[in-house]
Amino acid sequence: MQQQVLYPASDSHIALKIARHSRCSRCECCYGLHPPPDLHVVLDDSSPGGSVLGDLDQYGSDDDEDTRPYLETCSCGHGIPEHGADENVLGINEFGRVGRVAVRLDELLQDRGKLLDFNYSDVDIQSLKRQMKPFNSSNSSPRASG
Ligand SMILES: [Zn+2]
Ligand SMILES: [Zn+2]
Repeated sequence: MQQQVLYPASDSHIALKIARHSRCSRCECCYGLHPPPDLHVVLDDSSPGGSVLGDLDQYGSDDDEDTRPYLETCSCGHGIPEHGADENVLGINEFGRVGRVAVRLDELLQDRGKLLDFNYSDVDIQSLKRQMKPFNSSNSSPRASG
């Protein structure tokens, strides 16, 4: 049986969302935090009121603490801080900036029903992802700001 990990649907766990859309600083070939194949990622859409699924765990009352952890380890073996989401490295302002971009990216993915598809990409996502890069990166961008 596969282990299940959660992926946040709301704009919480910003570091995880940043990591998802950021390259691994340790690996050449990792373009964003993605789960190892033995992990099954489920959406943490813990919305108040009414569960759509017929999951009859009713004895938990309001203390329905989910024991499943959030996704925090990439298939490449590194964690969230290595994937560009270390607040100590970015600084609070930059962390907030890329956090907002990451949330936008997740909203795009959610619109497409691809929030849990870690391989999915399209033109809009590609262009938005460019804003995930720190300003001091050495690529020559035609525009100074976006
Ligand atoms: Zn890595
Ligand atoms: Zn990785």
